[in-house]
Amino acid sequence: MDDSSAYPYRLRQDFLSSAEGAFFRVLQEMVRGRLHICPKVSLQELFFTTRPNENILYANKLQRKHIDFLLLRCDTLKPALAVQLDYPRQADHRQAEGFLDNLCAAAALPLVYVIVRPTYDVPTLAADFAEAMKKVRGENALHHTDFSPICPKCGITMVLRFYKDGPKKGERYYGCLNFPQCQETVEVGTT
Ligand SMILES: [Zn+2]
Repeated sequence: MDDSSAYPYRLRQDFLSSAEGAFFRVLQEMVRGRLHICPKVSLQELFFTTRPNENILYANKLQRKHIDFLLLRCDTLKPALAVQLDYPRQADHRQAEGFLDNLCAAAALPLVYVIVRPTYDVPTLAADFAEAMKKVRGENALHHTDFSPICPKCGITMVLRFYKDGPKKGERYYGCLNFPQCQETVEVGTT
């Protein structure tokens, strides 16, 4: 057996940055065990290139890049949603985004960008995730119940709705599935 102490490897202490760690905890709160969270998944582990001999340039684009968080369905362990943290002041980050958008669209993987903030409004995030998932309907598509808040009265999943009239017309909110018997709502913030 090799003398491992001679190997020039050490454990990185920045595997998750503080922003990534904070968002990981928010994701945990959102999915509450309904989905698995994989941080920092390499694009090469997640995607492959069709006709690789013709598409070498595209294959190369997958190298040394990762998606910040990948959510897996618990039943099939298949990738269901990609979440990329967005640092608004990092211009070089922007460049990669166009590629990532097109990549995820081509591979039918829903993608959500989340702007890094000191705190997050979970119902707003859940609503954003639900909308991203609506755009992509694949075999691994998630259901709104994978993120939605639980009704405080009934203990069941709430659903994303839109105010049809009144001063909040067009705005999103979560309503109880037992409506109209239960009229609990959860506001979606405008953050
Ligand atoms: Zn209810």
